[in-house]
Amino acid sequence: MRISRHFVTALVAFSLGAAVVAQRGGQGTSIKPGEECPPGMTEIRPGNCQAPMLPPPSIVDYRPRSTLVTPAHLVPRAKFPAIDFHGHPGSRIMSPDALATMIGELDKLNVRVMVSADDSSGDRLQQAEKTIGSSPYKDRVRVLAGIDFRGVGPGWADKAVQQLEADVKAGAVGVGELSKGLGLSITKPDGTRLRIDDPALDPVWDACARLNLPVFIHTADPQEFFEPIDNHNERWLELALFPGRRYPSDRFPSFDELMTERDNLFKRHPRTKFVAAHMGWHANDLARLGKMFDEMPNVSAELGAVLYDIGRQPRVAHDFFMKYQDRILFGKDAYEPSEYPYYWRVLETKDDYFDYYRNYHAFWKLYGIDLPDPVLKKVYFANALRLTPGLPQGGWPQ
Ligand SMILES: [Zn+2]
Repeated sequence: MRISRHFVTALVAFSLGAAVVAQRGGQGTSIKPGEECPPGMTEIRPGNCQAPMLPPPSIVDYRPRSTLVTPAHLVPRAKFPAIDFHGHPGSRIMSPDALATMIGELDKLNVRVMVSADDSSGDRLQQAEKTIGSSPYKDRVRVLAGIDFRGVGPGWADKAVQQLEADVKAGAVGVGELSKGLGLSITKPDGTRLRIDDPALDPVWDACARLNLPVFIHTADPQEFFEPIDNHNERWLELALFPGRRYPSDRFPSFDELMTERDNLFKRHPRTKFVAAHMGWHANDLARLGKMFDEMPNVSAELGAVLYDIGRQPRVAHDFFMKYQDRILFGKDAYEPSEYPYYWRVLETKDDYFDYYRNYHAFWKLYGIDLPDPVLKKVYFANALRLTPGLPQGGWPQ
């Protein structure tokens, strides 16, 4: 009998594999119901764990290419002109040249108005308004005013309201983005944490209602940033890349404590219009956000930087956007022109299983939620226009 070389090679390879299995405990390790496989192993049959025969790549290096072939519809330009309610143009609105460059980039994306949510005030805000007002792009940028939460105590509110009135006179059309520092890190002069619902801040929220200014507020951060960093944390990679984003419970209030303070604030000021940035960090739990919308008619939400949550639940998100189509505003957050088209694609198409722009935010793929035109118009511009009288109101599609 002639034994082929291929057969021998296969036999050797099989024996080597078998040796590895033997080395690692024969047919694997069994576990009881509810138990996890030991480190380095995965459950290959119910109750039976085994280690891969090859050294597994790290999650940083494992980049499988998808073999899925489905229709793909890239959307380089928004279908309708958009207002970016969560803009951080920074110094791009401080000089005519930088402004012109940014407007050129926004034109390609069909972003008609950039709202600067850079928490600016006083001289800085005036300089931005001067640059915008003396440019050919008067109706392309609007600026929100910031609130300085340092030194909250007797006399603080009067000064804050005066500054806000001056900023509105200079051209501010709203307030924000109030940073997550409110609640997480800002302290009062006595060293205690300034709570989001501290009554000392009430005169400012009342002034916003009187001046008809929306308050754009970022509270806390993704829920997982408050949880232990372990193999079950779905933001492990981000937290390992940026350890400063963690909020360990021994040094920070919990996620739910901050949400409770925020909701107290929203409820105590029903005449003040609030826009919760990042969908209030409830895009992973849209029923919770829906309950907020139902209970608090003065609250809307902006969708920047939570696209990974919207795009991983296309059916639930579609229904949510249909139901609450008057309460959601488009916003992008960090300025990066190449990233806007991912938003257009998720909101406008029904594409399946495509990449997101930051793999450390989400190791999963996105799906389009296929919003109809009337809803896209509300999300892209009409809701922002209704909440913010100071935005350029003319020339939008019907
Ligand atoms: Zn922001």
